[in-house]
Amino acid sequence: MKAARFYEKGKLVVEDVPVREPKEYEVVVRIRYSGICGTDVHIFDGEKGSAEVNPPVTLGHEFSGDIVKLGVSVEKLKEGDRVSVDPNTYCGKCYFCANGKKHLCTSMTGLGTALDGSFAEYITVPEENVYLVADNVSYEEAAMTEPISCCIHGFDMTGVQAGDTVMVVGTGNIGLIMVQLAKHAGATTVIAVEPNEKRREKAKLLGADIGVNPMSDNLDEVLNKYNINNIDKVIDCAGRTSTAEYSVKYAGKGAMVMLFGLTGPDDIMGLHPFDVFKKELTIKGSFVNPDTFERAGRLLSSGVVKVDSIITDIVELDDIQKVFEERLYAKDGKVLIKCF
Ligand SMILES: [Zn+2]
Ligand SMILES: [Zn+2]
Repeated sequence: MKAARFYEKGKLVVEDVPVREPKEYEVVVRIRYSGICGTDVHIFDGEKGSAEVNPPVTLGHEFSGDIVKLGVSVEKLKEGDRVSVDPNTYCGKCYFCANGKKHLCTSMTGLGTALDGSFAEYITVPEENVYLVADNVSYEEAAMTEPISCCIHGFDMTGVQAGDTVMVVGTGNIGLIMVQLAKHAGATTVIAVEPNEKRREKAKLLGADIGVNPMSDNLDEVLNKYNINNIDKVIDCAGRTSTAEYSVKYAGKGAMVMLFGLTGPDDIMGLHPFDVFKKELTIKGSFVNPDTFERAGRLLSSGVVKVDSIITDIVELDDIQKVFEERLYAKDGKVLIKCF
């Protein structure tokens, strides 16, 4: 089968590799679509991403497909099932696994980072990581289950309540999902802060009430104009030190600031501890997607989270290197690789 293997910084090669035979409790999935994530880009650029990689390795961890082969003891799945797959596996033995925090597992392994991932025609995965895709959800949409599952984990921790004013900073793929979650959770006002006009308009179409261009709009004036007393929750989806600082600066009293976007491991943000004290802020982060995959599927099938406008490009597996080299992923939305 064809697979896009990462060898070293800037080097991704589509080559022929064998399909791994399933072990007793594993299945082989024929991959339909696989989304390009910031993590893949960080790895391609030779930066330390959110996970360790062992090159050469097939990248990709956000995908959909169908089951083509079963291990001898697999019971809950059958050939032909349309599925999406949680890429993360936990050891079940460490301190964190033993204390209800498996996503902080010291021996977590991930498809597309430590193990071969989904920029390939087939992948062999444990049965327990596989989730059925509803009939009314397309393979393209189902490839977004993983990013939605990560958003749910972060969103749950914000504790957004009915009537809240929520500010989403950065409305790329993740921000557009967060906007929808906030609106459906009962936020009365969702403010989308985004310099890119297309993305800002998309946020409004998906439920944001106010669009702010941080390069030209004065947020204080915007808050005055709309009679907004307090920003109760802030979700930074951009992952830059500047956006993290902006998020803390404009967070209201008693606010929760969720630093969801991934910054570089060596980035340092400026923070006035006095702000944290005076406004009694809570600042949190969110890592991967514990126990949220099934819910992500339901958000898609119910139509509560819509991703059709988030997916902007579909590229053949053979052309994947171009996507990374020409920075196509940095356009207006999600790039999916058509794998089969
Ligand atoms: Zn991802
Ligand atoms: Zn563990």
